[in-house]
Amino acid sequence: MNNPFFKVAVVGSGISGAVCASTLARNGVYVTLFESARGPGGRMSQRREKTEDGKELHFDHGAPFFSVSKSELLCLVQEWQSRGFVAEWKEKFGSFDFHTLKFDNIYQEGLRKRYVGVPGMNSICKALCNESGVESKFGVSVGRVEWLDDAKLWSLIGVDGQNLGQFKGLVASDKNIVSPRIAEVTGRLPPLDLKLVPELSAKLHNLAARPCFAVMLAFAEPLSSIPVKDISFKNSKLLSWAYCDSSKPGRSTASERWVLHSTAEYAADIIAQTGLKKPSEITLNKVAEQLFQEFQSTGLNISQPFYKRAHRWGSAFPAVSIAEDEKCLWDKSKRLAICGDFCVSPNVEGAIESGLAAALRLKDSPIPFTAQKPLVRGVPTIARTSSSFKIVASGIKKIKTDKPLGIGGGMNLRDGVDASGRKGTGKGVYQYVDKYGANVDGYSPIYTPEEWSPTGDVYAGGATGLAIWAVTLAGLLAGGVLLVYNTSALAQ
Ligand SMILES: Cc1cc2nc3c(=O)[nH]c(=O)nc-3n(C[C@H](O)[C@H](O)[C@H](O)COP(=O)(O)OP(=O)(O)OC[C@H]3O[C@@H](n4cnc5c(N)ncnc54)[C@H](O)[C@@H]3O)c2cc1C
Repeated sequence: MNNPFFKVAVVGSGISGAVCASTLARNGVYVTLFESARGPGGRMSQRREKTEDGKELHFDHGAPFFSVSKSELLCLVQEWQSRGFVAEWKEKFGSFDFHTLKFDNIYQEGLRKRYVGVPGMNSICKALCNESGVESKFGVSVGRVEWLDDAKLWSLIGVDGQNLGQFKGLVASDKNIVSPRIAEVTGRLPPLDLKLVPELSAKLHNLAARPCFAVMLAFAEPLSSIPVKDISFKNSKLLSWAYCDSSKPGRSTASERWVLHSTAEYAADIIAQTGLKKPSEITLNKVAEQLFQEFQSTGLNISQPFYKRAHRWGSAFPAVSIAEDEKCLWDKSKRLAICGDFCVSPNVEGAIESGLAAALRLKDSPIPFTAQKPLVRGVPTIARTSSSFKIVASGIKKIKTDKPLGIGGGMNLRDGVDASGRKGTGKGVYQYVDKYGANVDGYSPIYTPEEWSPTGDVYAGGATGLAIWAVTLAGLLAGGVLLVYNTSALAQ
């Protein structure tokens, strides 16, 4: 589809950009997504490291998990769960006080479920960027965006001056695309000149953020003296958090991997000494050692790791939320949406909400973008209500087949279990359309393999079922005969 009339460019493949792009595509808008990194995820990336002896290690070194509180977002997360790239992380977690050197609380479950991408946090963005209707271009940094006033189009130019195309709408899903502060880090001007959007510029001038260092550790033996897999620290100037990354569902357990997060104050202090430019190996090694020593000083019997490396997140968490009510910034005349966690709240939930809001704005913008029908059937569409929006399933295709799809609904489950560690039961999806008016999946508790029926229209209970049925029928007949006999003249 080369006609720019129908095209939207999304810059950034973090969760806000990925959700926005996939939602637009599912609603019939053609989307091209540009991401400067080699892969999708942004601050939900997974880092692949190699040890000197060639071992490959994976770490979620950004957001370790996320929670959602809003019911419409929960629907979306449950859909991701059913598609197998999100699972619940159900390990115990606790808070550790450096003053007492003790855990002061250990929880089995928090107030909200904790979700992770499977097999890595980046799996969610990866799946969304691969959806039909989204053309994703990784390793492409957008260097400049220009507004062509005559054609009413956005023109995108790469950092090396290459023409990236013209688009009817634009989504900027990272504050670095608009924030003048980026010049301090890269020496380059932000791609979008705020003079183009004077009404929005006041909100975008000072997008402060808090930094964080993450330290990735791999141990040959499990740290079995630690009673939880996720620790928040109190009263440490250095450490804010530690979690056992390899305890999440779908991860390799060949080694035990932990990630430490520094406090924002410690990270800001290091950055004040070393500057905003890319940190040197010396700095990273010093940070890794200091944070590891603090972890050891808990007294929790922590052995030496065989792998240890630090990563700097210069803008880990936005310090401000600039569009809490609207959820994204929107310039109607130029069809420009600016979204990301910095619009709503400094977490994955805020970023998802913002990405959805941006998609809604573009979809409802004055010039229609959409072909008449959504590109993909059976996917959420965004429906507007007067004050809010909701996600609803659209025209899910119900399939009828006489051939069972097998345990787990024909899915190829690794080790026979799904992302949440559940074994597939029942016959799988697409079996009971006529009977129930919907596809009933293999996890439905009303089915077990012994009760499978060839079509879903009849009950096939096997020999046991037949015997129970025969005994019940015989009992009823005998009761009837006895009743007739007792009330007849024969019994006199
Ligand atoms: C250490 C750490 C711990 C965290 N812990 C949690 C947690 O426990 N729970 C939670 O909910 N959240 C947590 N978060 C926050 C969460 O990760 C973010 O809120 C969320 O991922 C932000 O998503 P986003 O799409 O707004 O931005 P990002 O993920 O930052 O995505 C922006 C993307 O745009 C790309 N981009 C920028 N400029 C350009 C350009 N010019 N051209 C092309 N591409 C560009 C970037 O490369 C990036 O991929 C944590 C974050 C960090 C760093």
